[in-house]
Amino acid sequence: MTLIGVAALRPSLGSAQQSSANAWLVLSKDGRQPLSTTVLNGHEMVSLDDLARLFGTTVREDQVARALVVTDQGKTITVSGNQGLAQVGGRVVSLSAPPNRSGSTWFVPVDFIDRALALTHEPKLDVRTRSRLIIVGDVRVPRVGVRVEVQPAQTRLIVDIAPPQAHSVVQEPGRLLVRVDADALDLELPTLPATAADLLRAIHLAPNAPAIAFELGPRFSTYRTSDNVIDTNQVRLTIDLIPSQPGSETTITGTPPTAGSPFPTPTPQSPTAKPPLFSETAVSTLRTIVIDPGHGGDKEGAHGPGGSLEKNITLAIAKQLKTALEAKLGVRVLLTREDDRTMELDERAAFANNNKADLFLSLHNNASVRNTVNGTSVFYLSLADYSEEARRVAIAENGQALPTISGSDRQVELILWEMAQVQHIEQSAALAGIIERSLREKVKMNAHAIQQAPFVVLVGANMPAVLVELGFISNPAEEKQLNSAEFQQAIVASLVNSVAQFRTYLEGRRGAAAHAVSPVGAPHASVPPTPDQRLR
Ligand SMILES: [Zn+2]
Repeated sequence: MTLIGVAALRPSLGSAQQSSANAWLVLSKDGRQPLSTTVLNGHEMVSLDDLARLFGTTVREDQVARALVVTDQGKTITVSGNQGLAQVGGRVVSLSAPPNRSGSTWFVPVDFIDRALALTHEPKLDVRTRSRLIIVGDVRVPRVGVRVEVQPAQTRLIVDIAPPQAHSVVQEPGRLLVRVDADALDLELPTLPATAADLLRAIHLAPNAPAIAFELGPRFSTYRTSDNVIDTNQVRLTIDLIPSQPGSETTITGTPPTAGSPFPTPTPQSPTAKPPLFSETAVSTLRTIVIDPGHGGDKEGAHGPGGSLEKNITLAIAKQLKTALEAKLGVRVLLTREDDRTMELDERAAFANNNKADLFLSLHNNASVRNTVNGTSVFYLSLADYSEEARRVAIAENGQALPTISGSDRQVELILWEMAQVQHIEQSAALAGIIERSLREKVKMNAHAIQQAPFVVLVGANMPAVLVELGFISNPAEEKQLNSAEFQQAIVASLVNSVAQFRTYLEGRRGAAAHAVSPVGAPHASVPPTPDQRLR
């Protein structure tokens, strides 16, 4: 069993997506499934339809008793129709609210799962309210508590793991990663003391693994760890972050902050640390390309009037593009999904990041209420000042409005991690321009052929990234075209051509950068990492 992508479990920090912001996550041997909830009359409610889907329960209304009768694996749970009470095998339990009906769907308070369903269900259910996890059966999800103590000579991180699990500490550029041998983590994060900032900027769950990332501050030099078994139920990992000595930062190589930029520059490393692998964020060649076929699984994307689904068209074109790129350019190409599966937006960027992709290309179909609107368009990330049109497309793709930098619905710590794309916008803009010019030679472009928009799927990508709206599936003629081999081949040929041009562009820039170095020697920044370095 692999449970990758615990990114959705950032309970204390919120999330970029509506679907996961309020969703619980059900973890079982079979994988993970979101469970969304709805607030009705101030109570967090879950639909019995969703519980039926996840746990195989059935429900019927008992008009005489004015109750709902939920059957779980042959056992009966009777939920009072007008009071917050349920009866389970002769036992009465209280619920925070009575059930509520919306249309034909019944909702029960979410504590129904813990207080009633958990009494009947096999394998057993373990409801972790704090981290909004429902663990089914024998899945390893240790509770992990983190404390930060700012001491005179160092900052101490205390990580308690219960029950004890094997773990390791790995240093990566700009951060320490504590990996835990588990299926997922039930993580409690502290509020960071402001005085810790020069050694530690942020703590968060790693996006794609059961691991905790400690984002290091500019004075970080090295670290020490020790393990203590507290008792059979808990192990304590202590990590001391040791600062560099004042004045020793003079040899730091790093990109100076952009004037007025609210974004952090990559963390400079002290001379005693290993050379930074990614001290310059700019990509300098193309080795690995991640293609993201939009949507998938129960997220079908836009529907065409003839019945085509965006998720199928994006996947078909992505597969052809992978084959063509590998054959013509000799690059490594990975797809975020190879088949019809549901994937969260932030998992897609995380997949590209984890595979050290040098380019991220997300493929979609546009849709409009006016079925005459047509043409292909290319988008790259913007965080503010986007056009109404761009905003509309982004909302359609994201499933919600994307918060902007100035918005209050994201927390500042998240920006450091999640806004990885900000550092690549210049290259992304260049890529978008190359793609737009190349597509224009072969297919009809939209009136706004190149635009910036706040796409969630691009935000976390730590490499140049663009999103191509291949055409309007809502337009009957374009729907037909999107399905045609001829059009698909034209798109693929244009995109292969664009990627080749972008590679030339990157390598030209790298050459230019090498001539601009100081006499001290070539900064490692402009030397591409060796394959070994890239395998972190
Ligand atoms: Zn889409």
